[in-house]
Amino acid sequence: MDSHNEFFITTPIYYVNDKPHIGHAYSTIVADTLARWREVRGERVVFTTGVDENAQKTVDAAKKNGEEIHAYVDRMADIWNSTWAKLGISNTDFIRTTEERHIETVRDIWGRMEAAGDIYKGQYQGLYCKGHEAFMKEDELTPDGLCPEHKTAPELVTEENYFFRLSNYQQKLLEFYEAHGDFVAPAHRFNEVRAFVENGLEDISFSREKKEWGIPVPNDPNQVIYVWADALVNYITAVGVEGWEEHPADIHVMAKDIVRFHAVIWPAMLMSAGLPLPGQVISTGFLTIDGTKMSKSLGNVVDPLDLATRYGADGLRYFLLREVSFGDDGDFSEEKMKERYNADLANGLGNFAARVLTLAEKEKLHFGKLDAEFETILKDMKRAVQEKMTVFKFSDVLAAIWIAISFGDRYVNEKKVWEIKDAAARTQALFNLVSLLDTIAAMLAPFLPETSKKITAALEWKNDVLHVKKPDILFPRIK
Ligand SMILES: [Zn+2]
Repeated sequence: MDSHNEFFITTPIYYVNDKPHIGHAYSTIVADTLARWREVRGERVVFTTGVDENAQKTVDAAKKNGEEIHAYVDRMADIWNSTWAKLGISNTDFIRTTEERHIETVRDIWGRMEAAGDIYKGQYQGLYCKGHEAFMKEDELTPDGLCPEHKTAPELVTEENYFFRLSNYQQKLLEFYEAHGDFVAPAHRFNEVRAFVENGLEDISFSREKKEWGIPVPNDPNQVIYVWADALVNYITAVGVEGWEEHPADIHVMAKDIVRFHAVIWPAMLMSAGLPLPGQVISTGFLTIDGTKMSKSLGNVVDPLDLATRYGADGLRYFLLREVSFGDDGDFSEEKMKERYNADLANGLGNFAARVLTLAEKEKLHFGKLDAEFETILKDMKRAVQEKMTVFKFSDVLAAIWIAISFGDRYVNEKKVWEIKDAAARTQALFNLVSLLDTIAAMLAPFLPETSKKITAALEWKNDVLHVKKPDILFPRIK
């Protein structure tokens, strides 16, 4: 793999015990936007997403559905894969943790960590639910300490597991953080990670006694590799160990709840395995729905496909990237989404594009020179977009583009372009507007890929003459 001009970005792999909700879609759309941002700059992009199929909750979900486990994971993997396709996600790979290539990579990395002396057998003590046939975490239990599904109190059980010497890596991690001041973004989350590591690290359990599911520990068929030692390795699976050595991931995107695993356990595993570390771990906040936590029991889980059907995939992308300030928690409400859609997309971008294309359609426009005020507005927009993208301020990027749209709208109104009698003045005004629209479309390519393509396709320069092919209404108003 050629590591020059290449960009490697990942989403987490998601659990297949349920279908994607709007929170998964948000993380994935953020990764997609960054991938497309690099791609339009001519970089070769490796963009991976996928599903974690090896968890105990997969087994539980299959049982609950009365499905055979392999049939269940195949069906669920299809749902995740096709959801991203329908949302226009440009991932170049889709990792399933039951794939042979992943199993081989996990066992390879395990072997490296073991050879480094970082894997040892120890006693693991935890709360074990017999119904689940699995250990439960305290925060998974009801306030009375019961398993929420089986309504029984789990027992304190001790079993022999393999442990990873995470405690060996405290100093090395702190040194690495010191040398890489932007390793975790946003910065306040990096501070939390640093404080956690400074507090001291305990070794962690990396295996469980074998049940019917999971990747066996090399040379010990009675144990399966547990969660992070399996799931995190998917990032290497995508490119192979050699590929990772040449060019590790530039950016891992995720929601805030798994930052610690990616910023502490993952780099320690890579150090142990003698492999290079990723460039950056960046995290989104959580999405609430109408101000409340999203949960199945409240029945307020939002399906991204349903929204994309009604507002378009670009409508959904626009809302999430514009409404939520990156890194902070955000709130989704259908009312707010409709409002933004109608104001910014139907009346804003859609209306501006339609006006310019309608006026330009009637003229024979030659390529010319922009008026100075347009030169300035385009330069300002490009600079703002560039600056804000390097710090993941997607909302500010879109706001900067919308300033240019408003400027164009005002220009059409104030000049009354449709009434200009002088042919030279009229074609100059139209050339300004067409160039503005064209540049806006180019700037929007990572954010609203479908819309960007439609506008660009509507404006075709052939031998110095513009050919306009007006598309259908870009964003029909929604009542
Ligand atoms: Zn249980």
